[in-house]
Amino acid sequence: MNYHPQESIMSKLIQLQRQEHSIIAAVIDNKNMILSIGKTTVFIDNDPTSHAEVNAVRQACKKLNTHRLPQGYWLYSTFEPCPLCSSAIIWAGIDGVVYSNNPAYRGKEQNWSFISCEEVLQKGSYIHDVSLIKDFMIDEIKDYFT
Ligand SMILES: [Zn+2]
Repeated sequence: MNYHPQESIMSKLIQLQRQEHSIIAAVIDNKNMILSIGKTTVFIDNDPTSHAEVNAVRQACKKLNTHRLPQGYWLYSTFEPCPLCSSAIIWAGIDGVVYSNNPAYRGKEQNWSFISCEEVLQKGSYIHDVSLIKDFMIDEIKDYFT
């Protein structure tokens, strides 16, 4: 039951990105249900840490009243998680990440993935091991910034 990646989840997030004009991330529970959805609120909140992934993790942890999510929880994001978000994924005990778009298709925007998600997850694997699926359904979203 708990297998990834799931096209239905990423399709929904990509659709939301186009509607909300924000990168979208979601925490998926161990029954493959969406527990929380986050969008980027850096400007609205005047908070440089309010990235979509961090917001999704915050919401999920609040819902479950925990700082560390149970086994089998995954995070989906429409863009490669930055070093901040990749670290938050480790601290939250998330077991896997699926992301779609990546900095190669960021257009003229600054590349904030100065350390790749893969590298952060590898370096932090002694704290918590996180599986990674990159560029999932990228053809559906890679034109977004260009
Ligand atoms: Zn981030």
